[in-house]
Amino acid sequence: MTPEAPPRTLAVIGAGPAGLAAALAAAQRDLRVTLIDSAPQAGGQFYRRPAAALGARRPQALHHQWRTWERLRDGLAEQIAAGGITHLTEHHVWFVERVEGEGGFAVQALIGPEQQESVALRADAVLLATGGYEKVLPFPGWTLPGVVTAGGAQAMLKGGLVLPGRTAVVAGTGPLLMPVAAGLAGAGAEVAALVESADPKAFARHAATLAAHPDKLAEAARYGVQLLRHRVRLTPRHTVVQAHGKASLEAVTIAALDPAGRVRPGTERRFRCDTLAVGHGMLPHTDLAEGLGCRVDGLNVAVDAEQRTDVPGVWAAGEATGIGGAALSLAEGHIAGRSAAARLRGRTPDPRAWAAAAKSRTKAREFAAAISPVYAPPAHWAEQLRDDTLVCRCEEVPASAVREAVDELGATDARSVKLLTRAGMGWCQGRMCSAAVAGLAGCEERSARRPFARPVPLGVLAQTPDEDEPTPSS
Ligand SMILES: Cc1cc2nc3c(=O)[nH]c(=O)nc-3n(C[C@H](O)[C@H](O)[C@H](O)COP(=O)(O)OP(=O)(O)OC[C@H]3O[C@@H](n4cnc5c(N)ncnc54)[C@H](O)[C@@H]3O)c2cc1C
Repeated sequence: MTPEAPPRTLAVIGAGPAGLAAALAAAQRDLRVTLIDSAPQAGGQFYRRPAAALGARRPQALHHQWRTWERLRDGLAEQIAAGGITHLTEHHVWFVERVEGEGGFAVQALIGPEQQESVALRADAVLLATGGYEKVLPFPGWTLPGVVTAGGAQAMLKGGLVLPGRTAVVAGTGPLLMPVAAGLAGAGAEVAALVESADPKAFARHAATLAAHPDKLAEAARYGVQLLRHRVRLTPRHTVVQAHGKASLEAVTIAALDPAGRVRPGTERRFRCDTLAVGHGMLPHTDLAEGLGCRVDGLNVAVDAEQRTDVPGVWAAGEATGIGGAALSLAEGHIAGRSAAARLRGRTPDPRAWAAAAKSRTKAREFAAAISPVYAPPAHWAEQLRDDTLVCRCEEVPASAVREAVDELGATDARSVKLLTRAGMGWCQGRMCSAAVAGLAGCEERSARRPFARPVPLGVLAQTPDEDEPTPSS
């Protein structure tokens, strides 16, 4: 009798749609999967749900595509029971490295209520499904309490069953604004306006692509009906020019945009509100991939048709490889999981086996490519910034300091601005301000190349490798 080969192990980082699809596809093909996520429960951003202790009777009321979630949830439970997947919640991965000599990878994660303790997990291969985060652009008054990100407002509602305030304005640009406004209105907030900087006429240029996605059009129409029912005022081609208030938000001023993306003087309107939920699109999480030396293409982790990065043994799927919605993340995750399952057994996979997922991926990428330029922030947003408007709130760097670095000290890129002003050196390591700094410096937005994906206590860094006791993932 030949001894059985030991199970091959895969660490999937991120338990959103991409990570779940990948973990299931890999575990169903006999890989031993460790699914690691910083959140207390699986689901990622799209399937964020209230904690069980909150006793929500109908959590699906705040979601669409709930059946897909049920399928993922049940599949995960089955695989956990069968030993195919180990699900580690509240593990904040700060670094992944190749283990020289032995092969495979070590995944370093912070745990505990203060995230002061680090554990190391070993796996033969790694699949990065870390999703994206919201892009934030500053404007006068944006640091007032009551101004939150659009996704943050939605997370409070979906995850905590609370409203961020009683009267809200939802503003910025992107497909996320509609579900956020509809969700807030449906949960009882008065939504005074949905302020979208995109011009609806710009969608006409992509009519053929949009028509090929009736599901997306139907989804948008559903949100439109909900907004009309709640009498939410829709103001396309407008932007927020100022948030007002003393101790907290009391009102916002919005204004119309001209075709070049400049504010039209004299079109200002003021809305009373205690909440401004604002977002300007999403950015992919690339830190872990960059730490591993994976190629990043613009802002996205570069992958091939099998979702492999250019580092052997590392796959990536979902919004880390480009912003495109939950359906794209599911398709990419499925393909990545199947590819990893075959490759880790030394086999070349047959792409015909995942033809349906590949078709969904192509369609979803086409759709994302068509709508993303339409939803770009107004071209001249930076002109609204006063000299005292904070750009980097961690280090309290105002727009004047960034302008001085660019206009007087000759900085032409975000890194020079950072060295001259400290913008991007604080706790969030530029996640909040990097897009704003790039806009003010007039340079291309790039991934930030942070050494670690999370702030790491010095005690953890001081630990020698010998003191780390890797916990085998199998
Ligand atoms: C705030 C927010 C709200 C959104 N709301 C909507 C909506 O209403 N409708 C809609 O259609 N789309 C929405 N989207 C987009 C949608 O959620 C995404 O398209 C989809 O969730 C992407 O799936 P994903 O698996 O790629 O990433 P995600 O769902 O973002 O999952 C990534 C997972 O990785 C985990 N993770 C990241 N970094 C680490 C780390 N270092 N260590 C451990 N775990 C890590 C995160 O906790 C998360 O669970 C939203 C996105 C965001 C960010």
